[in-house]
Amino acid sequence: MTPSTGTPTPPPAFHVMLKPRGAICNLACKYCYFLSKENLYPGSDFWMDAALLEEYTRQYIEAQQGPEVTFAWQGGEPTLMGLDFFKQAVEFQQKHRRPGMRINNALQTNGITLNDDWGRFFHRHNFLIGLSLDGPP
Ligand code: SF4
Repeated sequence: MTPSTGTPTPPPAFHVMLKPRGAICNLACKYCYFLSKENLYPGSDFWMDAALLEEYTRQYIEAQQGPEVTFAWQGGEPTLMGLDFFKQAVEFQQKHRRPGMRINNALQTNGITLNDDWGRFFHRHNFLIGLSLDGPP
């Protein structure tokens, strides 16, 4: 076993989930384990502002040693941030990516807010979309 130097070595590639709206959702599924997490941050507005979004993007890309990086958007309901937030996210990704680096985006949504504008944006930027469906058995 290598003796610890006190400075952990980061893995060459890793995956972090982004929850820019925290536990806020436009549904209230009875079985949802996540809505109650809102109570862990009293006083928070659960809103990732542009400055934090850019700093996160910069650090996340900088820390990845591999040729690609995946941004995984989750919630609550991430589309409650609005389409302009995601347009800005993609701009920050392009601003901070290293030459030749592939950027992926994956987003999990309940689909309530989606319309053609979202669809065109997801298509243009090749987002992988996970659509959560629920209903009668
Ligand atoms: S859609 Fe998902 S995040 Fe929203 S309440 Fe239902 S299970 Fe929870």
